[in-house]
Amino acid sequence: MDYNRLAELLFPDVTLTPEDMENRYPERDLPEGAKVTRIAPSPTGFFHFGGLFPATVCERLAHQSGGVFYLRIEDTDSKREVEGAAAFITKILDHYGLRFDEGVTADGDKGAYGPYTQSQRVDIYHVYAKKLVRDGVAYPVFSTDEELDELKTLDKKAEIKSVNWEQDAEARREAMLKRRQFTMEQVEAELAAGHRFALFAVADGDPEKKIKITDLVKGPLEIPENDEDVVLLKSDGIPTYHFAHAVDDHLMRTTHVIRGEEWLPSLSKHVMLFRYLGFKLPKYMHIAQLMRLDENGNKKKLSKRDMGANLDDYRKMGYSVKAVNEYVMTLLNSNYEEWHMQNPDKDRTEFPFSIKKMSASGCLFDIEKLNDVSKNVISRMTAAEVYEGVLAYAQTEDPGFYETLAADRGYAESILSIGRGGAKPRKDFAVWADVKPYMSFFYDKYFTRDDEMPADKDKNDIKAALKAFAETYDEGDDQTAWFEKCKDIAESIGYARETKLYRKNPQDYKGHVGDVASFIRVAVTGRLNSPDLYEVIKILGADRMKQRIDEELELIG
Ligand code: GLU
Repeated sequence: MDYNRLAELLFPDVTLTPEDMENRYPERDLPEGAKVTRIAPSPTGFFHFGGLFPATVCERLAHQSGGVFYLRIEDTDSKREVEGAAAFITKILDHYGLRFDEGVTADGDKGAYGPYTQSQRVDIYHVYAKKLVRDGVAYPVFSTDEELDELKTLDKKAEIKSVNWEQDAEARREAMLKRRQFTMEQVEAELAAGHRFALFAVADGDPEKKIKITDLVKGPLEIPENDEDVVLLKSDGIPTYHFAHAVDDHLMRTTHVIRGEEWLPSLSKHVMLFRYLGFKLPKYMHIAQLMRLDENGNKKKLSKRDMGANLDDYRKMGYSVKAVNEYVMTLLNSNYEEWHMQNPDKDRTEFPFSIKKMSASGCLFDIEKLNDVSKNVISRMTAAEVYEGVLAYAQTEDPGFYETLAADRGYAESILSIGRGGAKPRKDFAVWADVKPYMSFFYDKYFTRDDEMPADKDKNDIKAALKAFAETYDEGDDQTAWFEKCKDIAESIGYARETKLYRKNPQDYKGHVGDVASFIRVAVTGRLNSPDLYEVIKILGADRMKQRIDEELELIG
């Protein structure tokens, strides 16, 4: 067969050559050892939480080595495409601080290796498609995509090793060999009739033989050579993932392909295509998928429909960017947590991220762990940082609370300062959404009386204590003087000045100073638990404290 002629028949409009492409996209001028990585999501309008893991690895490896991290949009499957999805992806990744140096951005393409959206690169793929036909390793199949889909079903059946596996494999092989048989006249006739064709690459592998390849986390692998013809172009001329991956990652000069483990079974196809195309194989890292434990304690893939799978939900649930990023780092590098403990004030980007510290098996998603990490992260923030975080969150998720916070920044920050900054900061918040219930009693419009006065205490004692507290309160008192007054009040109603006195001789007292503090706390905050009462009352102010005590006295009757 005259392959040159076939190539001209199939791609008459393609005049550019692979050399032209090499010139258009030259080797990058980067320092020795610099890594070029990318993430290449499909614009489905959904970004899986698990996608943050390869994305973080890509970002860290590129930026740690003085390389390039870029975003490519893989929109070759138009059936799955959702309008505005590319903008959504850039926005959400930007939210998590994954800054791309290059690629698709909210304001269009940035960088010299574009276009970065696959549907805009069709002419580039065709240059290489033509080359492969000319080299005699690619051939057309005149059939509709529906017919091709049927073929795939057959492939699938073979993959899941149905009972008919042997037969199916045989049938598949026969069909494949038949597809490869055609004459130039047939091709001419099909083209003249206006029929469209899909393009296949001829598999030249022997599955009995193994390819040796090293995956950066999985280590050395031996995978069977590919003996299945690979669809390169669908009948609309759009490439498949396999073909686009080879062409794009070569021309964009990706050094490290970091992607989900689900692509591992296709690796032998990719090795073959890179060889046909004359491209140097990039380094590969296949990251295990994020797992969860099911009801029976078995590991299962965190699937799209599972709680916690949608990355955007974390923003809506009120997780801080910092907490999510810390959590991801903790799961990705086994020594991160220890490093972080030793360097609490350093940014995660200062951590020496290492491929060697990555686990080859899947990370287990654990919301409790995320909450723990998150509480620690927020506990180390300043009141101003917490304020900013809650404010930004409330702006979209709770506009009413946003107004309240924005109306008096100083007041909100003083509330958030309680218990912050010391060696053992309070760990009240896992998510920004926890802040409102925590601080609501500081605002009259949110104040509710949730807890009752202790039922075993005499009403008259409670009333006497509350009255005495309101009467003797002095805003100038320091914490010691303030507490002395509480002790005096306790004594005046027959309660012990000190808790330990009460413990020694409980029969001598009706209660102790801690109970008195509880009466005041319930009256003023509506709760049995609150942050430091002295601080709380200072922030609320004497007037509001007295007003709430008066209300409580009325309620007690
Ligand atoms: N579009 C592919 C996916 O979403 C990208 C895989 C890759 O990173 O190569 O799975």
